[in-house]
Amino acid sequence: MKKSAIKPFFTILREANPSPQTELEYTTVFELLAAVLLSAQATDVGVNKATRKLFPVANTPQAILDLGLEGLESYIKTIGLYRSKAKHLMETCRILVERHGSKVPDTREALEALPGVGRKTANVVLNVAFGQPTMAVDTHIFRVSNRTGLAPGKTPLEVEKQLLQRVPAEFAVDSHHWLILLGRYVCQARKPKCWECLVAAQCDFKPKSEAPK
Ligand code: SF4
Repeated sequence: MKKSAIKPFFTILREANPSPQTELEYTTVFELLAAVLLSAQATDVGVNKATRKLFPVANTPQAILDLGLEGLESYIKTIGLYRSKAKHLMETCRILVERHGSKVPDTREALEALPGVGRKTANVVLNVAFGQPTMAVDTHIFRVSNRTGLAPGKTPLEVEKQLLQRVPAEFAVDSHHWLILLGRYVCQARKPKCWECLVAAQCDFKPKSEAPK
């Protein structure tokens, strides 16, 4: 994608959705961290279903610890990989209580030191909770960035670096939401819906797919 197309690309996405939000449901920074940790290789819809029951009962690190491992598992067992996620979340809660005064830290280093929290999760929390212009490259962003030519790269980290370089500052905080939503609903993995895509004119992908007849 030519540099001159990037600003129109994001301007169009912003006009269509001026304040994009994550589809994970949360009301506190800790709930966001827990939801993102549970969402690896699972859908946001599936995670929301579980956390709608969990969070009213336990939405602080100490409350999750008080549930105990089995108690926590009983709330999240509909989510894939729930056993290892439960263990990671318990351990993360213990560290938050012992080292961070039960608060979610706002630095990449401290976040990535938490069990079950990798670069992507840290990027989501830094962006969504703390307003930092990080790029959490998930499967949708990886595909859309490559297909459109916005930020080509062979690995998520390469794409992340390209995005940080190429996305203009005014779009930096919200851009990852727009890219996820574009990938989830329009630029889908098997067949992109180019015929109804708002940014088709800016996108490099060729040939564009046509509407089913
Ligand atoms: S035009 Fe097609 S390939 Fe390009 S972003 Fe839109 S849906 Fe994806």
